[in-house]
Amino acid sequence: MERDVIVVGAGPTGLLLGCELALAGTRVRIVERRAEATRNSRALTLHPRSLELLDMRGLLPRFLPSGRTLPGWHFANLPTRLDFSALDSRHGYTLFLAQARTEALLEERARELGVRIDRGHEVLALAQDDTGVSVDLRDGDGRATTSRARYVVGCDGGRSTVRQAAGIGFPGTDETLTGVLGDFATVDASPEALEAARANGVMVVPLEAGLTRLVYIDPQRMRAPADEPVTLEEFRGALTRICGDDCGIAEPRWLSRFGNATRLAERYRSGRVLVAGDAAHIHFPAGGQGLNTGLQDAMNLGWKLAAAINGWAPADLLDSYEEERRPVGRAVTENTAVQLLLTELTLTPRYERPATALRTLLDELLGIQDVNRLLADRVSALSTAYTSPRPDAHPLTGRRMPDIELNTADSKNTRVHELLSPAHFVLIDFAEHDGGQAQSTRNEEGPRPPHLTTATASPNATRDDLHGATEILVRPDGHIAWATRTTDAATRRAERTEALTAWTGSPRP
Ligand SMILES: Cc1cc2nc3c(=O)[nH]c(=O)nc-3n(C[C@H](O)[C@H](O)[C@H](O)COP(=O)(O)OP(=O)(O)OC[C@H]3O[C@@H](n4cnc5c(N)ncnc54)[C@H](O)[C@@H]3O)c2cc1C
Repeated sequence: MERDVIVVGAGPTGLLLGCELALAGTRVRIVERRAEATRNSRALTLHPRSLELLDMRGLLPRFLPSGRTLPGWHFANLPTRLDFSALDSRHGYTLFLAQARTEALLEERARELGVRIDRGHEVLALAQDDTGVSVDLRDGDGRATTSRARYVVGCDGGRSTVRQAAGIGFPGTDETLTGVLGDFATVDASPEALEAARANGVMVVPLEAGLTRLVYIDPQRMRAPADEPVTLEEFRGALTRICGDDCGIAEPRWLSRFGNATRLAERYRSGRVLVAGDAAHIHFPAGGQGLNTGLQDAMNLGWKLAAAINGWAPADLLDSYEEERRPVGRAVTENTAVQLLLTELTLTPRYERPATALRTLLDELLGIQDVNRLLADRVSALSTAYTSPRPDAHPLTGRRMPDIELNTADSKNTRVHELLSPAHFVLIDFAEHDGGQAQSTRNEEGPRPPHLTTATASPNATRDDLHGATEILVRPDGHIAWATRTTDAATRRAERTEALTAWTGSPRP
């Protein structure tokens, strides 16, 4: 076997997955069809949960200086913004960062971790058997080669060759509407013209290197197919029709049309082949969620696949990737469809008036703190929680672990995200409830699993939303595997042993 895993596609999902797999000591190769990284950026945002994930791997100091932080984002392009700053996170903001930059930073990290990245390599077909997957490739010189790995993950975008070769269906709805984007070196428009553009639904976004992005849906041409090229003349004509001014656009760097085809893979795993990111879900880019969802898929899959390869994965761990992430993919396809529907109705003459009234009403609702928070929690992905099959599970089970302060066994002050940097489990004792039991359990004889770190919550780390937890087991992706509120030492030990066996493959704390 040449490699443990071949990841197909060096987009954001494939690159982060490569990092996660390499961090856990597996041998990874990423193959990418493009000979060079693209300079055009579809996505521009990293939302709070993605920022938390990067924080967990110590990567934020690379990302933050490269972008610009914004206190929130939009829902359905409504004027009242989602307020991420009100959310329960150290990273209650969006990092405005071009996708090309995100990919460059992830690629830099992947190479540091020893991931082999072969650009100019296109996957044509694959075949799996009991021990691995054979991948047929064409390299940059047109030579055909076959490479073999124990697992293959398709992070190869919406038209995924891997997904198709694995026979995984991609049901959903075809494109019915397209939007247009343009990145321009020159936008010579008066403030009034830009204001009129915004008021008529055109997004005007300053990018790095002096570029400005304009994005619109043209009611007259909104059925044009996504693969129809966009010309500067079309762009100027559409802006003039929509807002009465062509906004002085010139020197386009990138013109593109994108559609609302919405699909969700019917399975995320077929034997030794898995899919993640756009290969598993596509939708209209409303609310800036596609790239973020792909990163979160990668973070969920990486440690589980590595556990299977490293031989300690409990039997159903790898299948839990699909169980946990497919509902998230479905929810994102639904919330983006709702956002687009609102725009589509506004652009449809017979619904224009009620749709405009509906937008006004929703905008007012967004001004209500609780409503704003609910949607902000969803778009930021901070509310993503995985359901436990156990009805008696502690209410925290499956939710994200807040980044509370901790003390390590050698009395260092730290916090949850810092302790997660090697992508190990973290077992946290809330010692003040414990009467010294935490110490005695840690002194038990026998080897601890190497992928487990133990810590004690700082006295000031207790919060109401921890629901009286006396002990919490955090997974490598920052979600809570198990928690208990029992103060009885024997019960707690029994519960802990069961949880550690179920999750880490070893009963020892
Ligand atoms: C206009 C627009 C704006 C967007 N804005 C946002 C935003 O603000 N925020 C957000 O979160 N998301 C946004 N998105 C969505 C985001 O761009 C995607 O969700 C994201 O790129 C998905 O990442 P990925 O790695 O899964 O797939 P991709 O980025 O599509 O990467 C797949 C990679 O696989 C390679 N590949 C494909 N086939 C093969 C093959 N056979 N062999 C080898 N390599 C192959 C491709 O060359 C590519 O590099 C936007 C999308 C659009 C269209």
